[in-house]
Amino acid sequence: MTPYQCRCGQALFCENTRCSNCGRIQAFEPLRAAMLSLDTDDDGWVDGEGNRYRPCANRAEWRVCNGVVEADSNETLCSGCRLNRTIPSMSRGENVLRWKRLEAAKRRMIAGVSKLGLDVNSGGGMRFDFLEDKRSHPDVLEHFVTTGHKDGVITINVLEADEIQRVQQRELMGERYRTVLGHIRHEAGHFFYPQLVTDPGGFTALFGDPSADYDQALNRYYEEGPADGWEQRHISAYASSHPLEDWAECFAHFLHIEDTLETAICYGLSPDPAQDPRERINAWARFVIPLNELGRSLGQRDHYPFILTPVVIDKLLYVQAAVARAAGRS
Ligand SMILES: [Zn+2]
Ligand SMILES: [Zn+2]
Ligand SMILES: [Zn+2]
Repeated sequence: MTPYQCRCGQALFCENTRCSNCGRIQAFEPLRAAMLSLDTDDDGWVDGEGNRYRPCANRAEWRVCNGVVEADSNETLCSGCRLNRTIPSMSRGENVLRWKRLEAAKRRMIAGVSKLGLDVNSGGGMRFDFLEDKRSHPDVLEHFVTTGHKDGVITINVLEADEIQRVQQRELMGERYRTVLGHIRHEAGHFFYPQLVTDPGGFTALFGDPSADYDQALNRYYEEGPADGWEQRHISAYASSHPLEDWAECFAHFLHIEDTLETAICYGLSPDPAQDPRERINAWARFVIPLNELGRSLGQRDHYPFILTPVVIDKLLYVQAAVARAAGRS
């Protein structure tokens, strides 16, 4: 993501709540991927044009987002928080930080898809259930809440925002990468699938038959593991479980690449390949090498532990073309 600028000139990032230089209030508006730099006066918060705002109720009460609402609006929640159907139980103190991490990832995903011309409020609207199960909350009924998407509702297990639990899960599953942002971008891929995939033949040729029995495929994946040679055809082991999971993984990677490449370009770390889709993938493939090596130099895991084979690149280009078509930019 490109850094933003406060009205005083200080560089800002989309998670900032206040400018560390001049103290102005900062608010991120994910639907426009815009940062508002606000002065405080006796009547509240005001931008450079005189528009007035008040804090999102979740910001005022829990500090879990950095959103605002227009002062004369009937809404109490910002455009990001309005997508929540279920929030974590705030009777448990540790959930405040977990919820904040979930919101940060959600807002970044919304900004990413909005920049590409997609609308989270389309098709009935994207909704979020941040749920707990008995592993983190003995009083809830569910024994096991899995992250997933159904009929526009994205369910995320709140434990995914707990560092210890998520790393443990990553190691148990033998995964190379597991992040809250990755989950949310993956589930957004399921949400946008009906809008984006308008050529069933083209999809099936690349990803496989989307109508293949889903439960059977997932059971097989969890019992037997990924198919032999998955590395040649899929971006991740999980992507090999079913064509729709392959799509969601590729959609998430498309968002990872677009966001990170934009950051690299604006800091002068990668040449700008403009809008040429294949050149963007090539620029990314070149940038990943120093990106991972930088992490290793600091004793960190690889930031991007994936291999883009020719088949995987074709799938990413398919996602890019589908997004461009939907956004009217084809
Ligand atoms: Zn400032
Ligand atoms: Zn909010
Ligand atoms: Zn999925």
